[in-house]
Amino acid sequence: MTKDKALEIFESTGALLNGHFELSSGLHSPQYFQCARVLQYPKYAELFCKEIVKNVKDERIDCVISPAIGGVIVGQECARLLGCRAIYAERESGVMTLRRGFDIKHDERVFVVEDVVTTGGSVKEVLQLVKGVGAEVVGVGYIVDRSNGKRLFEEPSYAVFQMDVVTYKPEKCPFCKENARAVKPGSRNIN
Ligand code: ZN
Repeated sequence: MTKDKALEIFESTGALLNGHFELSSGLHSPQYFQCARVLQYPKYAELFCKEIVKNVKDERIDCVISPAIGGVIVGQECARLLGCRAIYAERESGVMTLRRGFDIKHDERVFVVEDVVTTGGSVKEVLQLVKGVGAEVVGVGYIVDRSNGKRLFEEPSYAVFQMDVVTYKPEKCPFCKENARAVKPGSRNIN
């Protein structure tokens, strides 16, 4: 899939909006990005996850694991395509944990997936969890790489496409200088 095609799908589903936004961090950005809005369409979840799993099609994979909540849909769809099981890790008292009777065995080969990776923090915690039981990590797959070109993981990593994060402090925001008003995503005045 070309980056243009991926961006076209993100824009058409409202997962990527162009304009002038105030993010939850307080920073301003010409883009609002919310991957969940593209994944609400199962056909697009399938399309992007096919791009992820084609990188590991020759590997034996016993289990796909993702960090909740963002990675859960990607994990489920990748596992469906690979024909293996899908589990997810979630934070309990701040620590990434397997709950709900989920289990990884020491001789399993595990593929770690996520929707969007920026700093890679949640994925790194999941990698620790998998290695902690002695299982083998096949690789890390995700739809969008927002690391701005950083190499985040030692393991083989596969992103469908890469999209830089552009943010400004409000006092340095070029759109504010044009007297444009920043919109807070999630508020009702976004069409
Ligand atoms: Zn601004």
